[in-house]
Amino acid sequence: MTTATAERQGVLNRLIETEQERFLGLHPRSAEAWQEGKQHFLYGGPSHWMRRWAGGFPIYADEASGAHIRDIDGRDYIDFCLGDTGGMCGHAPEAVTEAATRQLKRGATMMLPTEDSLWVGAELSRRFGPKYWTLTTSATDANRAAIRISRMITGRRKVLVFSGCYHGGVEEAHVEIRDGRVGLRNMIHPNGIDHDAVSRVVEFNDVAALEAALAHGDVACVLAEPLMTNFGMIPVVSCFHQALRDLTRRAGTILIIDETHTLSCGPGGYTGDNGLEPDIFVAGKAIAGGIPAGIFGLSPEIAERLWTLVPHVNPRERQSAHLGFGGTLAGNALTIATMRAVLEKVLTPANYERMIATATRLASDISRLIEANHLPWHVAQIGARAEIMFMREPPRSGADVIAGRQPDLETLLHTFYMNEGILVTPFHTMLLMCPATSASDVERHTAVFAQFIDLIRRAGVI
Ligand code: PMP
Repeated sequence: MTTATAERQGVLNRLIETEQERFLGLHPRSAEAWQEGKQHFLYGGPSHWMRRWAGGFPIYADEASGAHIRDIDGRDYIDFCLGDTGGMCGHAPEAVTEAATRQLKRGATMMLPTEDSLWVGAELSRRFGPKYWTLTTSATDANRAAIRISRMITGRRKVLVFSGCYHGGVEEAHVEIRDGRVGLRNMIHPNGIDHDAVSRVVEFNDVAALEAALAHGDVACVLAEPLMTNFGMIPVVSCFHQALRDLTRRAGTILIIDETHTLSCGPGGYTGDNGLEPDIFVAGKAIAGGIPAGIFGLSPEIAERLWTLVPHVNPRERQSAHLGFGGTLAGNALTIATMRAVLEKVLTPANYERMIATATRLASDISRLIEANHLPWHVAQIGARAEIMFMREPPRSGADVIAGRQPDLETLLHTFYMNEGILVTPFHTMLLMCPATSASDVERHTAVFAQFIDLIRRAGVI
């Protein structure tokens, strides 16, 4: 480390400490609640993800409505995290709240379909393309089921993913390339999975590497986001999707497109809006307005292949097999009712238009400030989602992100933002719009981003 780099690091560390002290001072009740939470929860909160906020502990939510959250210290936040996409419909959207209340009074879970499911099934096909659907309780579960189906019908074991991906608690995807070597993803500990046997990983947008990795003939499926959103935003280069589709078809490999985050692109996700032809489509998070849900949809050809193994029409046999896709509560009446409300009344074309216009305004403000201050950063935008990237050029792969990412600058920005009443996704600097995100929310963000630039300029970080 050069002296200048060490000095800059020292300044950054002090700024983070100052902001975290300010955070503690502003949030006495949350700080106290966190101490108590640690007495009963393995990682402090009811989910280990809740530990990942940059202030040192999470704020405890009191209530949330639209694009705003109020915490138990009485502070208000503009919420651009939106539950890491689970809240993309906005908090407590009226249509979802009404549907949930109505259905809760009529029974939440019965191991029986309701008539709402007929509308939902038809709408999922209309929006996203695939013909045959199954619900799960999370996107992780949907990915797991999609992988299992791929293995069943191909008889192969390996799952190919792109370095820097995240597809939930799917062990096969917990691999990455670092310094040219394949290994467990950063922060994943060995846990008995033989990744050499079940995984293959290549860099995103690298057609030659993909072709070579599929040529072994042992890859059951490629599991991919249409563009990468979990390692900073990595846009897809033109023609990559065509190559991905052609190469997987040629190799007899199933193509699973995971749209859990990229549902923010538009009403049909990236797939529907760009005419992709995945064999299996996966989504989750916001799809039922915050009620836990995942979905996976199969093309007719893949469904036919599955049915040759596990028939679906056999009146004398009540059991299709112990598939266990999705769990006991999957597709329950409550989830179906809220999913219908989301698809019919919240994630509508008109609301997408609004959300995307808001994101465009936010991204252009960020971009203007970056340019005016001659900063080596950029802002990425895809539909209703924007991301501040502390690197000059958009990355093409996970390797570019590893080389350019500035985690301490992210920690400082996140803490500063929370102290100024703004929440962004704690894992990187992703800002998501919901239908209720307003022009004044965007203006406030722009002002706070400008203050942040001032802060680090005065401290000599930039
Ligand atoms: N797929 C993608 C693309 C995701 O980003 C995530 C979670 N961030 C998942 C799947 C898993 O979702 P869940 O944790 O809700 O199962």
